[in-house]
Amino acid sequence: MLSYLLPLVIGVIIIAYIAVKPYWREYQREKIRNQPFKKEWRKILQQRMPYFRQMPADLQLQLKQHIQVFLAEKSFIGCNGVKITDEIKITVAAQACLLLLNRKTNFYPKLQTILVYPRAFIKEQQNIQENGVLHTQKTVLAGESWDFGKVVLSWQDTIEGAQIPDDGRNVVIHEFAHQLDQENGKANGAPILDKDQSYQCWSAVFSAQFEQLQMQAKTRAPSLFDYYGATNPAEFFAVASEVFFEQAKQFHYEHPRLYQQLTQYYQVDPIHWQ
Ligand SMILES: [Zn+2]
Repeated sequence: MLSYLLPLVIGVIIIAYIAVKPYWREYQREKIRNQPFKKEWRKILQQRMPYFRQMPADLQLQLKQHIQVFLAEKSFIGCNGVKITDEIKITVAAQACLLLLNRKTNFYPKLQTILVYPRAFIKEQQNIQENGVLHTQKTVLAGESWDFGKVVLSWQDTIEGAQIPDDGRNVVIHEFAHQLDQENGKANGAPILDKDQSYQCWSAVFSAQFEQLQMQAKTRAPSLFDYYGATNPAEFFAVASEVFFEQAKQFHYEHPRLYQQLTQYYQVDPIHWQ
């Protein structure tokens, strides 16, 4: 009799666990949000994140609460001699959480660990060429976002990205935009949109702008977006996100339709912070 019951009991426990888990997580997050934000953390935030001071008070509070949850849920690993400090954690978390403000968020659910290198790092990739020969390709990277579990960052590039808030370059925003894009599979430039936003419209506006950037990159014509965004639609979304947060006025002026798509997606309008 007991042997018949046991699978049933285990099944009920698993179902109950799955049903209760989101509520339990939300309860834990609420507790974390209600903890006081450390004074030292606030100092780092003001020092390392210039746009924090320009943000309205409600967003500042939201950002601080998001940082607390982010730090409670993600781990940091220092690589090649980097010692993880509060300065590193707050600087990364603050910029990563900028992308989550005002939105229903599950705090980068696939991400567990942020690996921090002192400066740009070399990635080796092996691929087989047409003639069958194994070829090792070396690329220098300031950051990288993996499909599952990890974001890799150069600390030097992270600081520079945060210190100069209006040059349209920010490695943390770039890599975490990829994380958002990767929530529904491989990055393809189409993250999960809110039910009020149309995928069709997103795709039409993004495709047109992406093609324009590809053309500009080919002819070396000046563009607000880094030519790197012409690599593929995923890179274009990440590059456009950097410019959206760092050069909002110019972005809005030059590409109002794309800017509108991103305001709708990110639920903030950074023009007011600059
Ligand atoms: Zn990228």
